[in-house]
Amino acid sequence: MAAAKKAVRKKGKKVASKKKASVSAKLQIGKDVWPLERDVLFRPDRMKYVRKLIKQEGCVFCSAAKEAPTFETLCVFKTKHSMVVINKFPYNSGHLLVLPQRHCGDLLKLSDDEFADLQNTIRMTMKCLMDVYDPGGINVGLNHGAVAGAGIPDHLHYHVIPRWSGDLNFFPLIAETKVLVESLEQTYEKLWSNLKKYE
Ligand SMILES: [Zn+2]
Repeated sequence: MAAAKKAVRKKGKKVASKKKASVSAKLQIGKDVWPLERDVLFRPDRMKYVRKLIKQEGCVFCSAAKEAPTFETLCVFKTKHSMVVINKFPYNSGHLLVLPQRHCGDLLKLSDDEFADLQNTIRMTMKCLMDVYDPGGINVGLNHGAVAGAGIPDHLHYHVIPRWSGDLNFFPLIAETKVLVESLEQTYEKLWSNLKKYE
């Protein structure tokens, strides 16, 4: 019995190390960077957690838009029509959201002033991230609509994510866990004191 258990354990170990080897073999620096093709693990059972995360009273961005920037709302900076918010579930340290202050889920329905202000705010956010974090690159992306992957589809938000070579290790792939080097508080403090310099 004990021997049989040992054999099963041994077999399990072998499979695990094989898996690990194949995962690390796939991760070649510069090749696994969005939006290039990547392996996808489909987990429809995760939807209940995603729904739970986005289910809340009112729009979280509109609540932040009503107040002056504070760490509680994660809004770190405001312009005339736009604002910069720290992503609560960051992909990388310095992962920001840039969005219009007005509740609007359709980019085509923004006024010219709102659109221009939004684009300028994205640009100043990028400049600030380059200086503060010195990344190798930045992902700037908009998921337009729920089917395109927007978590809060009724309120537009661009993702602006600093990227470093090799920052996609095997953790997010196999454990749905991302290791970050700084807390949200530290990110907030760094960006709050710097963003205004770039307006
Ligand atoms: Zn809103």
